Amino acid sequence: MSAHPIRYLPPGSTLGVLGGGQLGRMFVHAAQAMGYFTAVLDPDPDSPAGRVSHHHIQTGYQDPEGLAQMAQLCDAISTEFENVPAVSLAALAGQCAVAPAARAVSVAQDRALEKAHFVRCGVPCAPHAVIESAAQLPGVSADLLPGILKTARLGYDGKGQVRVQSAAELAAAWEALGRVPCVLEKMLPLQSECSVIVARGADGQTVHLPVQRNLHRDGILAVTEVYERNLPPALTQQAAGAAISIANGLDYVGVLCVEFFVLQDGSLVVNEIAPRPHNSGHYSQNACDVSQFELQARTLAGLPLVQPRQHSPAVMLNLLGDLWFAQGGSTPRTPPWNAVLALPGAHLHLYGKTQAKHGRKMGHLNITAPTAEAARATALQAAALLGIAPF
Ligand code: ATP
Ligand code: MG
Repeated sequence: MSAHPIRYLPPGSTLGVLGGGQLGRMFVHAAQAMGYFTAVLDPDPDSPAGRVSHHHIQTGYQDPEGLAQMAQLCDAISTEFENVPAVSLAALAGQCAVAPAARAVSVAQDRALEKAHFVRCGVPCAPHAVIESAAQLPGVSADLLPGILKTARLGYDGKGQVRVQSAAELAAAWEALGRVPCVLEKMLPLQSECSVIVARGADGQTVHLPVQRNLHRDGILAVTEVYERNLPPALTQQAAGAAISIANGLDYVGVLCVEFFVLQDGSLVVNEIAPRPHNSGHYSQNACDVSQFELQARTLAGLPLVQPRQHSPAVMLNLLGDLWFAQGGSTPRTPPWNAVLALPGAHLHLYGKTQAKHGRKMGHLNITAPTAEAARATALQAAALLGIAPF
């Protein structure tokens, strides 16, 4: 039991988050809606969450003074950014309640530890090898090729990954990634991808959102679809069960996203976990009676967890910076929000980022409708208006 366990914090208490990106911003919005004060630690004066929080500590994630200020201001602290050093969470835990714990976050921060955790939980993951030195390269099994070499730490949105066909390409990729510890994963034949958002309370109770079907483009999430039979029911049950055992195995407190691959033979393989709300859970803001951000606030404030109910079929479209540039153009334009928002069930979420860049997550559009067919049809109309390729 940690020195500062999660306990019930009534509205009026202050909830903190390390990291000021869009996930932190949406957490701040949810916590504030429930009457909490919020504090964000992020060095960027313009950070999406910092700009909407009651308090914004503008220091680095490892700055002892910034961390001390957070501990002073907050009754409990969470994280929204995987790469917040686990040591910072550990340091804070000596001073106030922290969830998820540094130990759980450090597993999610390292693909090698993460894979070992999946194996421990008995959840199948991709065949893989951990590569920490050049001497290990010749011994890598040819069965893992073609494969994807991924840095063990600090990867996101497909960054820090190289696809390799041969032993020679593997050696070159390891050099190109800077000779840092990596995991080589066998390239698997994917039929689709899915993910599950689990919330686990300090008392061990878990609830989860419906299983999300995800489409990635260029290593970045593009579209999430959530409605009945978006995936075979046996598969969604299996994914939810696996996600819960992964959370239980970490004695996790907070919101956890577990990403899976569905292979061409229909089997399920876990890909990775994120110790926070996730892009694929954003549809819950408009399609469920409890969003993933409210779940995060509830776990942090020691509030009861109630099983969320999805009331509308939903499609989420990610809005990347690319949409701000007309084909080939270099001057940003404003996407046609007026036309998009004329569509029934279109809910716009923008993160307040001032500068659009290619591949940068600027916002998302949730489409809800009475039926899955209607949600898809409206989402395709929105995609056409915005210049997003059909799915
Ligand atoms: P994010 O942080 O956005 O989830 P990431 O950088 O952590 O991404 P991964 O989830 O490891 O990256 O991989 C990104 C995408 O690349 C996956 O969603 C999948 O489409 C593809 N991919 C990754 N690993 C494999 C694999 N072993 N076999 C086939 N495809 C893969
Ligand atoms: Mg991923």
